[in-house]
Amino acid sequence: MSLTTYRNAQVFTGESEVFTRMDFTVNDETGRLVELDDSGMTRVVDLTSKYVVPGLINAHVHVVLDPYGQFTAGVNPVVDTTVALNNLQQAFAAGVTYVRDMGSTFDVDLTLANLEKQGQQLLPGIVGSGPALTMTGGHGANLGREVDGPDEARKAARENMKRGAKNVKLMATGGVSVDGEQPTDVQLNEDELTAAVLEAHHKGFTAAAHAQGTVGIKNAVRAGVDSVEHAIYMDEEAANMMLARGTVIVPTLVAPWAINRCPDVLPDFMVKKAQEVADAHMNSMKLAVQRGVKMAMGTDAGTPYNDFQTAVVQELLMMQEAGVTPAQVLLAATVSGAELLHVADDAGELVNGKLADFVVLGNNPLADLHAFAEERQVFKKGQLVFQSQD
Ligand SMILES: [Zn+2]
Repeated sequence: MSLTTYRNAQVFTGESEVFTRMDFTVNDETGRLVELDDSGMTRVVDLTSKYVVPGLINAHVHVVLDPYGQFTAGVNPVVDTTVALNNLQQAFAAGVTYVRDMGSTFDVDLTLANLEKQGQQLLPGIVGSGPALTMTGGHGANLGREVDGPDEARKAARENMKRGAKNVKLMATGGVSVDGEQPTDVQLNEDELTAAVLEAHHKGFTAAAHAQGTVGIKNAVRAGVDSVEHAIYMDEEAANMMLARGTVIVPTLVAPWAINRCPDVLPDFMVKKAQEVADAHMNSMKLAVQRGVKMAMGTDAGTPYNDFQTAVVQELLMMQEAGVTPAQVLLAATVSGAELLHVADDAGELVNGKLADFVVLGNNPLADLHAFAEERQVFKKGQLVFQSQD
């Protein structure tokens, strides 16, 4: 058995909101944290003056989407897999060691999730959804699966889970990145959402809704989704409903922000909508923070100019701008993400028995969240998967 003991680090264990001076030991074969071995017989890595955070969890990504638009998803499975593998390496560079895919093509997410789980590929852990469920002609219809009526929604949810999906992704409203619809459009109805959510819950899995307009957000919450994605036009009532039911918000503030940074190269309809939603989106997140609605970190990576690496720090900073304290941002990106993804047995905290997924930072992220873009090393299952050059 090969063990490595990491010494003298300041660790954000996930159990409290401060860094604690701690030594920890990793079983290099299982990739899990084990009881501290300070016998001197293990390999020792000294982390004096470094900050250690559990690997980040990005609760909203699309592995098959190329953020720079060079490749179009849904045409060729080899291309989509290649894009996905590249994106997932970028995720490592951001300190992300677990992702939830929220709509994929050719079941690339489900296949890669299996390979990772079996130890055949060193990738971030993946909770996959397979194709998103959307109404005929709805948001993401070109890449997702069109369903109309509770029966079709139920059937599609069951089929996705049969092929390995651990989450059901539902389109409750229109969105920004598709022409001919508005973020406020209601799409899948409450009865359709409810049918799919029930199937996910019957299997102990989760359901998540893309919901941007107020009516769609409330439909999704009443249908019982575990998380509302984007939540752009949230009102007081919606916030109270989420609070009462424990619904989690995954803000993805960086998605419209990334579009707004590149107005000259993206289609007018997209830029116009992204500009329209930006303020409302931030205001909704401020309301959510004030009300104490639970949040997990997600970026919607793969959407235009929203990459798997640099956008993560931007999302953390925007959450802070919405009023989340840096410690709460870290918890949203670790513990809360693990709970939402139902992977808390493996991830989210640095405690014995869980995976040795962690980020070693040169600077204190509680002082400045830019630390995740500065000097860092990223470990997945105890193995070094990224090291910054500076
Ligand atoms: Zn998305």
